[in-house]
Amino acid sequence: PENDAALLVSDLSVGYGQTDVLRGVSLRVDAGSVTALVGPNGAGKTTLLRAVSGLLPVKEGSVQFFGDDVTRLEPFRRAQQGLCHIPEGRAVYRSLTVRENLQLQASPDRETEAIERAVAAFPILGDRLGQQAGTMSGGEQQMLAMAAAYVRDVRLIVVDEPSLGLSPVMVDKIYEFLGAMATGGTALLLIDQFVDRAMAMADAAYVMRRGEIVFDGEPATLMAGDVFDHYVGG
Ligand code: ATP
Repeated sequence: PENDAALLVSDLSVGYGQTDVLRGVSLRVDAGSVTALVGPNGAGKTTLLRAVSGLLPVKEGSVQFFGDDVTRLEPFRRAQQGLCHIPEGRAVYRSLTVRENLQLQASPDRETEAIERAVAAFPILGDRLGQQAGTMSGGEQQMLAMAAAYVRDVRLIVVDEPSLGLSPVMVDKIYEFLGAMATGGTALLLIDQFVDRAMAMADAAYVMRRGEIVFDGEPATLMAGDVFDHYVGG
């Protein structure tokens, strides 16, 4: 049913200046489920995530978050409602320490608890609480970005290329964590070039091409035979 959607994007058109990048995009992320969005470079995946979190204005269409129309809501209001956007690359405050990055996300009376929870989820961060976030490795920074979302108790995470440039071991850890978040009831909208990994975790799949959704269905259907190549390749 409609009200089970964590995210409901309807007929969305978004562009930069006069250029339309997304045309009539509709997409749904069920509460507590994982949706993967894939497609060739330049298809508009990042643009969609920016429109969802409010970083880009919408020309036409709407964005609903757990039944509320947030199409015109400022990004920080969406964040307050439990929407977390983890952009590609280093989504941390680089000049702040790990501890400060986590404290920023937690409510003032629960900072200690938040840091304990983050460290329990990512033990690596425990040894680095006093370190400047910008001096950590790419994988460690990605973990910090995830941990910061975790301590905020978000309801939906939209995450852009979480494994980009990371070693396979780090990618495993990131995915293990995303899986744990999903199991805990957080909805995920995931973009990843590692299509196999993304689809292995996903409950639903979308393919975007040239600003339009060209496939919407089960991950298993997309990964069977030459379906994926049909939509993403040729
Ligand atoms: P990738 O997988 O390469 O990251 P993507 O699917 O995320 O690609 P977007 O980054 O959303 O694609 O880009 C979609 C289109 O919008 C591209 O043609 C891109 O050049 C264009 N675009 C992105 N950002 C801007 C901007 N700030 N100004 C103008 N055009 C932009």
